[in-house]
Amino acid sequence: MEGDSSKPGGGGAYHYWSRRHYLVATGGIAALSGCLGGDVDEADDAGTTTGGATSTTMADGEEELPDGVSEEEFENGPVPEAYRAAVSLGGEQRNADDLFAKGDVQFSEYDEALENDAHQPGRCCANCGEFIADRNGDAFGACSAVNGYIDGADWCSVWEELPEPSVPEGLTESELPTAQVPAEYRTASSQGGEERDPDDLDTQEAVQLTESVEAIADGLGQPGQSCGSCAEFIPDKNGDGWGACAKVEGYVAVEDWCSIWEHVTEER
Ligand code: SF4
Ligand code: SF4
Repeated sequence: MEGDSSKPGGGGAYHYWSRRHYLVATGGIAALSGCLGGDVDEADDAGTTTGGATSTTMADGEEELPDGVSEEEFENGPVPEAYRAAVSLGGEQRNADDLFAKGDVQFSEYDEALENDAHQPGRCCANCGEFIADRNGDAFGACSAVNGYIDGADWCSVWEELPEPSVPEGLTESELPTAQVPAEYRTASSQGGEERDPDDLDTQEAVQLTESVEAIADGLGQPGQSCGSCAEFIPDKNGDGWGACAKVEGYVAVEDWCSIWEHVTEER
C-alpha cells in the first residue's frame, strides 16, 4: 500500500535518487497543462499510429502522416486547434506567431539525431520542456518552440531540460518514492483516463523508475517515452512541480520514466 514505510526507498540504496539533485526548498515550476482537449480542426483527422486509427504513408515511404494531413501541414503547420495555444510539459505556452521552423533547429527523428554531434544521449522531444504530448489520438504532439507536428521520439537543437521539482516541505528525498501523495492525487484520473487506486500500485523500484533521459540513454526506455507522454501520468495539481501515477506509488515527475510506460492516447 502507498505510504508503507517498510518499502524500499530510504538509506540511499535506491539508484533512482542517486541520479537526482534536489533543491530542498519550497516552490515549484509552473503548473503543467491541465485538461486534454479532444477537438480537432481543419488540419486534423482522427488518424493514429498507436491508438488504433489510421495514417497515411508518404510517397518516399519514410514517414507516416495522420490521415488528412498533408506533408506541408505536417512540416510547417498549422497544428490542430488543441495544440495551438497549449502549455508544454515545462509550462511554456505555445504562440503560433513565435515558432522556429524545423529546418532552422536541426529537427530530426531520433535515429538521425544520434548522428548529430549536438545531440546528447537520451534526449528526445518526450523529455523536452517544450513538448506538448498527443491530445487527439493521432500519436503526434506539438511543440511550444517549433512549428509542425512533433513525435515524442523526435529531437532538435533547442531541446530544453525539464526543471526538477524541489522536495516538498515536510518530506526528504528518500521518502518521495514511497510517500503518500497529496489528497488530490490519490484517486485522481490520469491523463489517459485511468483512475488511481492507492491500494493497487507498483513500487517505483519494481518498475525501474528513473529519469527518461537516463532510461533512453541506457537502453531501458525507447525514444519518445517519459511520464509526460504516458497514459498513466497525473500532471501537477498543486503547483509543486510533482505529479503522480495511476499505476505507481509515490511522487512522480514529468521527466521520469518506468518500464510500464504506455502512450498517452493508447487507451482511448
Ligand atoms: S526537442 Fe525541439 S522539437 Fe522537440 S519538443 Fe523540444 S524544442 Fe520542440
Ligand atoms: S512511465 Fe511509469 S511512472 Fe511514469 S506515468 Fe507512466 S506508468 Fe507511471
